[in-house]
Amino acid sequence: MKQVDLVILGAGPAGSAAAVTARRAGLTVALIDKARFPRDKLCGGLVTGRCAAHLARIFGQEITEDLFDTRRNFEFFLQGQDLGRLDDVPPLHLTMRHAFDARLLGHALAAGAEDFTGHRVATLDLAQNRVTLDRGEALFFKVLIGADGVQSPVAKELFGRAFDPDRVGFALEVEAPTQAASEQTPIRIDFAAARWGYGWSFPKRGSTTVGLGGLHAPNPDMKAHLAAYLDQLNTGQDAKVKGHFLPFGEAKSHPGRANILLAGDAAGFVDPITGEGIGHAIHSGELAALSAARAIQKNMPDQAFKDYRHATRPIRHAVRHARLLRPLIFTPRLQPFFARTFRTSRSLKREYMHLLSGEAEYPELLFRVLARLPAASLRNIRGKNP
Ligand SMILES: Cc1cc2nc3c(=O)[nH]c(=O)nc-3n(C[C@H](O)[C@H](O)[C@H](O)COP(=O)(O)OP(=O)(O)OC[C@H]3O[C@@H](n4cnc5c(N)ncnc54)[C@H](O)[C@@H]3O)c2cc1C
Repeated sequence: MKQVDLVILGAGPAGSAAAVTARRAGLTVALIDKARFPRDKLCGGLVTGRCAAHLARIFGQEITEDLFDTRRNFEFFLQGQDLGRLDDVPPLHLTMRHAFDARLLGHALAAGAEDFTGHRVATLDLAQNRVTLDRGEALFFKVLIGADGVQSPVAKELFGRAFDPDRVGFALEVEAPTQAASEQTPIRIDFAAARWGYGWSFPKRGSTTVGLGGLHAPNPDMKAHLAAYLDQLNTGQDAKVKGHFLPFGEAKSHPGRANILLAGDAAGFVDPITGEGIGHAIHSGELAALSAARAIQKNMPDQAFKDYRHATRPIRHAVRHARLLRPLIFTPRLQPFFARTFRTSRSLKREYMHLLSGEAEYPELLFRVLARLPAASLRNIRGKNP
């Protein structure tokens, strides 16, 4: 039996960010993950400027060549139709998650988090503030952070299920062997490669990560969409296909309860247009640890959630704004309008890139797009968001 201030379940980006921040605040931390690291996490590995800023602030992790390939060129398509290309956009960074997550975990352990990776949780007793590991050891906590991904056992324990199957997203990916990509090789985005979703091709040094994803419910034939997409790009047809859920606009309005906090995918903090989740995961992990530290300092661990819910409002708002904009991009009947506007407007493409790089926020983009939209289209999208 062991008593710590904070148990963190999940040592992905959210969990490691929480661990580093909590150690800096002087808390004792047990960091648990069922996997031993390095481990794979299915992901495009695109790190935006917004995410890079969180990495530097929280981990002191810079964008270094050993971990990232930086790209400045982008091309956009919609069902094979060329929507144009942008060169010299704000830099975006591509990484491989097995190396990236292991590096972040290294920062967390170096900061003094106790390493319980390679261990499954056997029982989770939220009433007794106790987690029991598969090897029988019991850990008692003041605050628990569930940073345990989209299928979060902590969220299941709190709410009976980790996500709403009607609103969750699903994505498929392959690692396609490619000749060495250069700094000029463009990142490719294909809107509508899946229904209410998109496809991507991320050229890295050893391979190209090709995938597509979107809302799960309208895409029962996601594998067929991927096969068609790989044929279209003429790459990766023989590579192993892997799939993973992602919360796609499903930010939980109550990401936790009392002394239990959910961070990252467990809280549903993923952008419902771009699918970006690493930045929100790291940021929410940091916020969860700070809320835990404040509540523990006041000797009122049960107050942690109230503090955390307030702190994560900007993340939930960002997800909500993106959800408002999403029908304009993904509603099938509006796609001709979207394609025409996006193809002809260089400024809209730049705006999109500034959003990805963290130099702009959704409200600016939302108002610019709404201003261009005919009234009939506005009526068309009302109530369209799944
Ligand atoms: C195909 C795909 C492509 C994506 N591409 C991008 C992208 O390019 N850029 C981007 O920003 N985001 C992308 N995302 C989203 C991104 O991968 C997630 O938002 C991000 O990984 C969330 O981090 P996390 O720490 O919350 O969860 P995770 O990275 O999922 O980490 C959760 C951890 O919890 C552990 N865990 C789970 N259950 C248990 C248990 N019972 N006991 C112990 N440990 C447990 C897991 O082993 C895991 O290590 C993509 C997602 C998918 C599916």
